[in-house]
Amino acid sequence: MSTSVTYDIIVIGAGPAGQKAAVQGAKAGKHVALIERERGIGGSCVYRGTIPSKTLRESALHLDQLKRAGEALQFTLKPDTQIATLLSRLENVVRAHDSFMSQQLRRNGISLLHGRAHFLSEHIIEMQTVDGARQQLTADTIIIATGSRPRAPKEIPIDHEHILDSDSLLSMMYLPQSLAVLGGGVIACEYGSIFSLLGVEVTLIDRAQYPLQFMDRELVKQFVQSFERQGGRYLGGREITEVRWDNVAHVVTRLSDGTTIKSEKMLVALGRQSNVEDLNLSAAKISVSEKGLIPTNQYCQTDIAHIYAVGDMAVGPALASKAMEEGRRAVRHALNLPVGDAASTIPMGIYTIPEMASIGLDEKSARERYKDPLIGRAKFEEVARAQISGAGHGLLKMVADPEGEHLLGVQVVGDSATELVHIGQLALQSSATIESFIDNIFNFPTYAEAYRIAALDILGQVAKRRAAKAA
Ligand SMILES: Cc1cc2nc3c(=O)[nH]c(=O)nc-3n(C[C@H](O)[C@H](O)[C@H](O)COP(=O)(O)OP(=O)(O)OC[C@H]3O[C@@H](n4cnc5c(N)ncnc54)[C@H](O)[C@@H]3O)c2cc1C
Repeated sequence: MSTSVTYDIIVIGAGPAGQKAAVQGAKAGKHVALIERERGIGGSCVYRGTIPSKTLRESALHLDQLKRAGEALQFTLKPDTQIATLLSRLENVVRAHDSFMSQQLRRNGISLLHGRAHFLSEHIIEMQTVDGARQQLTADTIIIATGSRPRAPKEIPIDHEHILDSDSLLSMMYLPQSLAVLGGGVIACEYGSIFSLLGVEVTLIDRAQYPLQFMDRELVKQFVQSFERQGGRYLGGREITEVRWDNVAHVVTRLSDGTTIKSEKMLVALGRQSNVEDLNLSAAKISVSEKGLIPTNQYCQTDIAHIYAVGDMAVGPALASKAMEEGRRAVRHALNLPVGDAASTIPMGIYTIPEMASIGLDEKSARERYKDPLIGRAKFEEVARAQISGAGHGLLKMVADPEGEHLLGVQVVGDSATELVHIGQLALQSSATIESFIDNIFNFPTYAEAYRIAALDILGQVAKRRAAKAA
């Protein structure tokens, strides 16, 4: 019988959620084990998700700038451009990330163990290494952070060569001439707009009339317009009846309205599935919802108080930023440290081209709650910085209460949206007034100036409301 090693905290999975949980535990002086089944640490965020997709995006943006600067040169990418060329910086980025994270784990005295973990009971974890050796570990607190993988619908024959998912997409050797993308979520829209900017003929297909259903409709419309102006095509409100590789040169997609699309490659981005199957959760009496997620409370606690579930495998948006915050939050709760209320203002950043971001209430949810909120708009056409950089298609929306006193939320589409939103985040967290955006001086020219323009818009509407009441 193998003896078990005892820790204060065991974390399963070394993606963003697990790492932050482990570091938080160690910083509080606890003896922490972090178990990871893969050789590298960083999870899908580093190897198949955030970092590779954003590296490709950066290449696409650089090439686009070059193209625009040299319009007269008629610069286009060769049809046989290798994906590896576009991802040339990826290896350096991943290496830098890996070495930073490894150092951080070492510095904090965290035991990083490589193996596949599963529950034997509510307090005992068994870890199996690649050579088959088994080790038992026990802890007072267990954090499950095993993340997710692309959902593979049975009716779509994903072969990872012609019909790919987000894990295999970047293993394509060459930039395809055409790409059909199934899905209207974040991954579909991000990759769709990146490949479109690279000159690939992209068709996005989804059953919803508009993509990104959870985002402000005005922002999404602007994104679809930009995507289509770029040469992409969005086919909304369509059901797929058949997808097949024709064994010659095309992926053939048939839609319920009779349309047939032929593309060189296809990306299937129809949601994610959490990694729970291998964990033997029943041994720990933990339930899994119909969607395959582990139900948790606001502190990420499962039904079993000392077991927490964080990141992609728990309910909520599948974002690295949310995963990290949950990892930190769960451990702080377990250790009786103050958790703060940051979870109520998790920002949303979508790296489409153009990018989008949101924090707090959007127009729709503010109308449901406040009936008549005020919405301030700053079109990037009015922002000098955007005019200078030729990024005039953006929009910043500021949502305020009906009196126009307090900020309730901010939504942005356009250049630097994912950075800009953090000004709104700090303002929300410190209950800033709308007037404070006018009382403060903004650098000129900056994108941040859009806040001032939107605040002025709101105060103009307040004055009109007051005048109408007085009349
Ligand atoms: C294409 C793409 C683009 C994305 N872009 C962004 C973005 O721009 N911004 C953003 O915030 N998010 C983005 N995301 C989402 C982000 O990558 C995820 O939300 C994040 O990685 C989730 O972190 P996690 O720690 O929950 O899980 P993961 O990162 O999935 O990590 C889980 C880890 O657990 C390990 N594991 C699983 N089972 C076991 C087991 N039984 N034993 C031991 N180890 C196990 C896995 O090997 C893995 O390393 C993107 C995702 C994709 C796919």
